[in-house]
Amino acid sequence: MCGIIGVTGTGAVAPRLIDSLKRLEYRGYDSAGIAALVGGVTERRRAEGKIRNLEAVLAEAPLNATVGIGHTRWATHGAPTTANAHPHKAGRVTLVHNGIIENFAELKAELAAEGHVFESQTDTEVVAHLLDRELDKSNDAVEAFKRVLDRLTGAYALAVLIDGESEQILGARRGSPLVVGWGEDEMYLGSDALAVGPFTQQISYLEEGDYVVLNRGG
Ligand code: GLU
Repeated sequence: MCGIIGVTGTGAVAPRLIDSLKRLEYRGYDSAGIAALVGGVTERRRAEGKIRNLEAVLAEAPLNATVGIGHTRWATHGAPTTANAHPHKAGRVTLVHNGIIENFAELKAELAAEGHVFESQTDTEVVAHLLDRELDKSNDAVEAFKRVLDRLTGAYALAVLIDGESEQILGARRGSPLVVGWGEDEMYLGSDALAVGPFTQQISYLEEGDYVVLNRGG
């Protein structure tokens, strides 16, 4: 279980996500990635191996955005490849995950039977597909997210971006830690206090089963 960072802010987000991920390197990881909302739609940058590899990808293809999420992965399901690196994207949903979705095989079979096509071998990707499917049923992202959480067994800390939700980050935890950081016109989400440490000392620890909806204002 590795690192998560999310920032809904006003400054350039990519360098801030990278800075946080470097602070989480001590936890060990095999790949890393970030996603940010560019014109209301997420773009991803991912790389195998060290964060410097991700920095090289970003140097080739910069991300100009102020809202984003980042992840260092310690593979549990699927090899440590770029395709299996987080963030994972399905339709309008992009997310990162720490932990293990124990019922992923059953969920994947259900989604595959409905025509969903998977790009990775991870347990995580099913969560993105589930949420995208729930968003088809109603446009209320928070209600859709809660319905998805009810379907998951296992351990998770999640940070989620949805295309069209220009400054929102959804988060939830069960079995894996997640903290909220409070800034001035900015909010942060992190797998521990170190992740949000560069930005704020004002932190709330989520409790088991909590979910959170972050916007710049709170
Ligand atoms: N189970 C997920 C995967 O293998 C997340 C691993 C992690 O916590 O980094 O991609």
